[in-house]
Amino acid sequence: MRNDFLAGARGPLLADLAAGRLLLGFDYDGVLAPLVTAPDGRTMRPVTARLLREVARRYPVAVVSGRAFRDLSRLVPGPGLVRVGNHGFELGRAVAVPRRVLAQVAGWEAAVGRMLEGLPGWHVEHKRSTLSIHYGMGREWRRVERAVQAAGRALRGARLLPGKKVLNVIPASFPTKGDAVLRLLGRYRLDVALFLGDDRTDEDVFRIGEPTVVGVRVGPGVTAARWRLRSQEDVDQVLERLRVLRAPRRALRRALR
Ligand SMILES: [Mg+2]
Repeated sequence: MRNDFLAGARGPLLADLAAGRLLLGFDYDGVLAPLVTAPDGRTMRPVTARLLREVARRYPVAVVSGRAFRDLSRLVPGPGLVRVGNHGFELGRAVAVPRRVLAQVAGWEAAVGRMLEGLPGWHVEHKRSTLSIHYGMGREWRRVERAVQAAGRALRGARLLPGKKVLNVIPASFPTKGDAVLRLLGRYRLDVALFLGDDRTDEDVFRIGEPTVVGVRVGPGVTAARWRLRSQEDVDQVLERLRVLRAPRRALRRALR
């Protein structure tokens, strides 16, 4: 495999990063937790949860997800790391959604219902400030996917972020995951982010590029990231390597809430 991050991580790459002012950023689904199609998602393997806690005692850690902040907080509990929900909109806290956006998203939901009426195997997850249209539950999912994409293109003021058997519909005025990572680097006065992701939305982070972002794409697919991990299971090895490269730092927990 080209640009195998595990091979790089055994060399000086991770050690050099760990010696600097480093932010660790992770997508949740498909990176920290195995990817499942159930919309309520899946918890981390116990070993991953334990390693993440250890790593968060040593580095500033951000979990940057398309999930709503409250949902993400349920899946990634505990102090000492930053949670970012709704693709970058909820930076470290649940954010009240402006009324104008609530009305816009409610309008999208109604329009999607009308356009996809009668089609099987899809449902809308209404996240207040964004919509996620899930599909792929039936045998004819490719046909449903085309209909979902056409419906998304018909929505006004929307940015479409295709994921794995999901179409995320986001107000065009909202920040991206890339914006969120840049803000966190500024807020905590850090120089570089090591970011692991597996979604289209993570490409907004990867495109920032080095020296600001060292990107690691988890799994297959076209990517702007320089590095790749073969599968989600390999993330534990990266966490373990990061763990041994630094001693715990007491001041971190106070800084990151
Ligand atoms: Mg993901």
